[in-house]
Amino acid sequence: MSTVPDLAALHALGPAQQPTYGDPAAVDAAVARLRTMPPLVFAGECDELKAKIAAVARGEAFLLQGGDCAETLAGVTADNVRNKLRVLLQMAVVLTYAASVPVVKLGRLAGQYAKPRSSDLETRDGVTLPAYRGDAVNGYDFTPESRVHDPQRLVDVYNASAATLNLVRAFVTGGYADLRQVHTWNTDFVRDSVAGQRYEKLAHEIDRAMAFMEAIGADPDEFHRVDFHSSHEALVLEYEHSMTRIDSRTELPYDVSAHFVWIGERTRQLDNAHVELLRHIRNPIGVKLGPTTTPDDALALAERLNPDNEAGRLTFITRFGAGKIRDGLPELVEKVTASGINVAWVCDPMHGNTFEASSGYKTRRFGDVIDEVQGFFDVHHALGTWPGGVHVELTGDDVTECVGGGEELLEADLGGRYESVCDPRLNRVQSLELAFLVAEMLRR
Ligand code: PEP
Ligand code: MN
Repeated sequence: MSTVPDLAALHALGPAQQPTYGDPAAVDAAVARLRTMPPLVFAGECDELKAKIAAVARGEAFLLQGGDCAETLAGVTADNVRNKLRVLLQMAVVLTYAASVPVVKLGRLAGQYAKPRSSDLETRDGVTLPAYRGDAVNGYDFTPESRVHDPQRLVDVYNASAATLNLVRAFVTGGYADLRQVHTWNTDFVRDSVAGQRYEKLAHEIDRAMAFMEAIGADPDEFHRVDFHSSHEALVLEYEHSMTRIDSRTELPYDVSAHFVWIGERTRQLDNAHVELLRHIRNPIGVKLGPTTTPDDALALAERLNPDNEAGRLTFITRFGAGKIRDGLPELVEKVTASGINVAWVCDPMHGNTFEASSGYKTRRFGDVIDEVQGFFDVHHALGTWPGGVHVELTGDDVTECVGGGEELLEADLGGRYESVCDPRLNRVQSLELAFLVAEMLRR
């Protein structure tokens, strides 16, 4: 394995979607500070996740990846992190029961702070300022001061990620993730909400399975704790490069800012700096593939990012849109499968289904999200390949950002509690509904 290219070499490749910093000395200071910071994750944990994703690729596990589109520094509160984690754990229990295979739980958290944008600028009421690029880069407030790209924010993001991950680790090992407790939350959802009643039958089946295990006295360690991993889009090169370290055990480079990192749809060009950096790290990694991806693009990415065809190393996260997946996905899956490439297929049913409501809010229809997941399952079932998982933007709070679902949120409701600083997320109820609906797809 050749050594990791330095930052200057990466910048020489003309990376897309990078901050434009004014003061090089401030950038150097932030990078130098980050390089001294302890790892957020261990290389050995990344390897464990890689082995789990290898099981996903073999059809022996299912991946649930979810969290905010963009985390915010102000959002690092106990309530916010706990609610997100709780809904992910609730979803995972339903999916595990239905799939009868392990569910790999991967948070889109503890580092998801940088956003690619379609435009560098944003205009409001005749005033034009730099676009918001995530709290890793600038502030959301629409003022010239806040929108300045500030490298010190990368250090703030590191600290916020450390606090988030610390709390998540405490929750998942400290009793909060207890299977009986999580199941009780699901029973409450089904009993107490109109949207939940539809799923009574499945919840009741899980209830009986739990009662059976209790009756025979089964109480394995797995009931009391879960494995949970972190992930984010590897976007800002200064951050990801500073957090790339040589593992003392294997002497190989890992990006220790998260267990799993992915390359976005807008930065996945083969000769791009992001592919160049991620090809050198040993973490499990993902690439988003949109509807313009040709089979040759996918094959070339796999060859570049995983030349040894290592199992669990590469995940393709498809995000076609509900209207395009049934036509576009088959050829991609077919050619990749025929070439013998080892990959986990995961469906992101969010990013191909965004539109602007007449009120101006960016939103998504719950029905489109479900339809894309159904299309993903249909395509994989028809080809005899494994629909390996879902990647969703969600929150554990009762926000009003996506329309539809059992609560029948309308476009007129969006203003009620729209809190996302970037893309619209499924709220708590919509996320649980998605889990029950995907469970039904898994059981066919
Ligand atoms: C995202 O995951 O928030 C994102 C920007 O996705 P994509 O790269 O697929 O557009
Ligand atoms: Mn998004």
